[in-house]
Amino acid sequence: MDIVWAVISIALVSTGLSVIIIVADYFLNNYGDCTIDINNGSKTIVAKGGSSLLSTLASHQIFIPSACGGKATCGLCKLVVQDASGPLLPTELPYLTAQEIQAGMRLSCQIKVKKDLRILIPEELFSVREFTSTVELLEPLTHDIKLLRLKLEEPGEISFRAGQYVQLHSKPYGKIRESVFRAYSIASSPSDTQYIDLIVRLVPEGICTTYVHTALKVGDPVRINGPFGDFYLRGNKHELIMIAGGSGLAPMRSIILDVLERQLDHPIRFFFGAVTRKDLYYVEYFTELSKQHPQLTFIPALSAPGPDDQWTGEVGLITEVVARHVPDANDREAYLCGSPGMINACLKVLKDKGFSDDRILYDKF
Ligand SMILES: Cc1cc2nc3c(=O)[nH]c(=O)nc-3n(C[C@H](O)[C@H](O)[C@H](O)COP(=O)(O)OP(=O)(O)OC[C@H]3O[C@@H](n4cnc5c(N)ncnc54)[C@H](O)[C@@H]3O)c2cc1C
Repeated sequence: MDIVWAVISIALVSTGLSVIIIVADYFLNNYGDCTIDINNGSKTIVAKGGSSLLSTLASHQIFIPSACGGKATCGLCKLVVQDASGPLLPTELPYLTAQEIQAGMRLSCQIKVKKDLRILIPEELFSVREFTSTVELLEPLTHDIKLLRLKLEEPGEISFRAGQYVQLHSKPYGKIRESVFRAYSIASSPSDTQYIDLIVRLVPEGICTTYVHTALKVGDPVRINGPFGDFYLRGNKHELIMIAGGSGLAPMRSIILDVLERQLDHPIRFFFGAVTRKDLYYVEYFTELSKQHPQLTFIPALSAPGPDDQWTGEVGLITEVVARHVPDANDREAYLCGSPGMINACLKVLKDKGFSDDRILYDKF
């Protein structure tokens, strides 16, 4: 009998505590409706408080770039919050420079909407849309890279600058219970408005890339939003030195197709580096393109070709190959895309050749 009473008492106490917590949460975290003023009155939204600024804006169809889904590990969702909205968090500090902090910049994923806010965001983010799409093509390009073609459904067309990226939304699959957003550069031409190509490299244990490589099937629906990013062609007549590794080829393909289709008179030298032949792809594609368009020179290079590779092309680290082919920075600008290691090494070579910061654009991933 004593045991029964003890069990009943414990159950009553825990139920009572749960009710207190729920009621306290309701009153303490009930921030009511908050008004968010965007760009000094150019847009205003009224939202229920309590969520992060990033997700509150997204629920009002304003998409701030974020590659990590709000975990403060990518640093992309920066924006200016004009009102003091709590102190800077340690999670924000690694991603903000002293000038950005001075200007009131914050990571929108780390700010909870608790009161009225005034924020500044780049105007072009207003044109970012959410799209529903269907997988039209999903095929291997190498042992760990796949081409994913998405046919846009609603809206049915996208407008973007060659070099920009979209965020792809993965659904729960297998043991993964969460949905995430990750950034992928558009690999198709801006003239193809009804579909986009993405080039996705499988990251071991990576949530979104495992989703794309193992769970996604032709015909599946996929949600994306975009376009985002300032990695796109600048408007002058310089020779383009384009350097890519791995899935970094994606934005380069879009930029090169755009330059050729619009008949812009940039000479282009496209360096594509890999370790062995099995890591290279689109070699025939770009070789053919360069035969049709003499302004394009395609230079694939292997750093460690195996005996079976029968490689007759350039050999060496991509930095060595670039150093051999590019004499100096005169009338040239460089576009780089690949791993942080590759980009950092290439930056050094380009700086040694005299490229100033404003002549180099890069996307690291
Ligand atoms: C602007 C931009 C453009 C990009 N374009 C492309 C592109 O065109 N193609 C492309 O392939 N990629 C691109 N990326 C990279 C892409 O956005 C993803 O970061 C990448 O695909 C990995 O995503 P994921 O969800 O598979 O990996 P994640 O789940 O984010 O994991 C990444 C790594 O972190 C490790 N990890 C994750 N969680 C933990 C944990 N809790 N503890 C320890 N380790 C952990 C994983 O093991 C893995 O190695 C781009 C990135 C940016 C910023």
